[in-house]
Amino acid sequence: MSILKVARLGQPVLRQPAAPVSAGDLRETGIQRLLDDMIETMVDEGGVGLAAPQVFQALRVLVLGDPSPAGDKAEAIPLTVLANPRLVACSTEREWAWEGCLSVPGLRGWVPRATRIAVTALDRHGRTVHLEAEGFLARVLQHEMDHLDGVVYLDRMPDMRRLAFVEEHARYWLGATGAAATDAAAPAACSAGSVPTEDA
Ligand SMILES: [Zn+2]
Repeated sequence: MSILKVARLGQPVLRQPAAPVSAGDLRETGIQRLLDDMIETMVDEGGVGLAAPQVFQALRVLVLGDPSPAGDKAEAIPLTVLANPRLVACSTEREWAWEGCLSVPGLRGWVPRATRIAVTALDRHGRTVHLEAEGFLARVLQHEMDHLDGVVYLDRMPDMRRLAFVEEHARYWLGATGAAATDAAAPAACSAGSVPTEDA
């Protein structure tokens, strides 16, 4: 396995819709190696999610995982590989949290996401899977699925005044967000996310 270079904002691959993969594609060693490399890259970068466009591959595959989260806010996320994930339902309720992104290094933004979602996808063996997620996992999923459509979390921010560098975020914003944690009227599309202090 190898650690891959992560595309940063401005690379065109981050702004184009990624192509679906078939169950047959998933049987190829090339894509299996890509998935293993994405997992290794995500772990090495300290992220909780990574989508293929972030490593210059315009394919609809993503990996998630954070087996030993730091801090009391984060929840463990089992290692998950999804291909062609599709939202089949999402709650109208939104919650807000800070997000970071490996492709937007050094920044944190305050982003509303659907509190609960349901997703269908293929697993890495090409089998159809259905999963329901809420809270942090739902956020990470929405954030990563956005990458497959060329969308980054900045696009989901209704208020760019709540964008901060990591150091200033830790100094002035962490623990003092000044907004309700949940807001049913938040103007966000049902989409994908990451943790307050981690990158995805
Ligand atoms: Zn991201």
